[in-house]
Amino acid sequence: MSQEILGFIADVGHTFLKVVPISLALAAVFTILTTFWACNPGVAWWRKKDAITDICYWFFIPVMARYFRIGLLIAGAAVLFHITTADGLIAFYENGHGPLATLPLAAQMIIFLVGEDFITYWTHRWFHGKQLWKYHAVHHSSEELDWISAARFHPINVFFGTVVADVALLIAGISPNVFVVLGPITIAHSAFVHANLDWSLGPFKYVIASPIFHRWHHTLPDRGGEKNFAATFPVLDLIFGTFYMPAGERPDRYGIDDREFPAGFGAQLMYPFTRRATDFAEIVKQASPPPA
Ligand SMILES: [Zn+2]
Ligand SMILES: [Zn+2]
Repeated sequence: MSQEILGFIADVGHTFLKVVPISLALAAVFTILTTFWACNPGVAWWRKKDAITDICYWFFIPVMARYFRIGLLIAGAAVLFHITTADGLIAFYENGHGPLATLPLAAQMIIFLVGEDFITYWTHRWFHGKQLWKYHAVHHSSEELDWISAARFHPINVFFGTVVADVALLIAGISPNVFVVLGPITIAHSAFVHANLDWSLGPFKYVIASPIFHRWHHTLPDRGGEKNFAATFPVLDLIFGTFYMPAGERPDRYGIDDREFPAGFGAQLMYPFTRRATDFAEIVKQASPPPA
């Protein structure tokens, strides 16, 4: 048992060590870019009132996502393919399987990106519904939105919002080697779309999600808060009628307008278990009653 605990601690340590250099690089890049191209000039990211909360998520969520993914991969292989041995799991997942694994890695990456974005577009919309909003509200609760806000997700949101999509594509046969290349790119792009940057990417605004595109998603529901659900490809929002980037306007007010919402990391993790189910628009209505 003590061996397993030591192994677990070493594993968590390795994940941390992988996150640290990426984080330092992102911090340096976005600090410089925000100096010149801030969307909402104001306090620097490290002086945000909930910077400590965001830093806790930044290190906690990658570890959590990794264990969720491993657990679901093992469960999926056992239930769907009756594979229960360690050797069997390695043979099944090591380089992918079936027709998808015979494609070049670049083709698998494209299939993974498009498949993942399609699935997470719909899971994201599902999390904006009445039953699941209280979990997703954690992500929208950041009022001073910046790159470090990118990891602020409740574990339930991480599990059903992204891990299920990752595992579905790996079970379909995509090689896990795709993760080695796309993992750091996905982290950097997610930080980029949350960064305080006045960038819409001009003619490429439908091709790849930009800071302006995603910052609109973090505004209140009467603006862009119920729009721009795609993580990577805004064309999904165009197709499904949820694209929102009004010309000549910039997003400027973020958050969920919920006075009951806690600021601390631990309290936010507990929040969905104490809040009754209600949707985004309803919470905002309760927080800002119309003048009598
Ligand atoms: Zn959302
Ligand atoms: Zn976001």
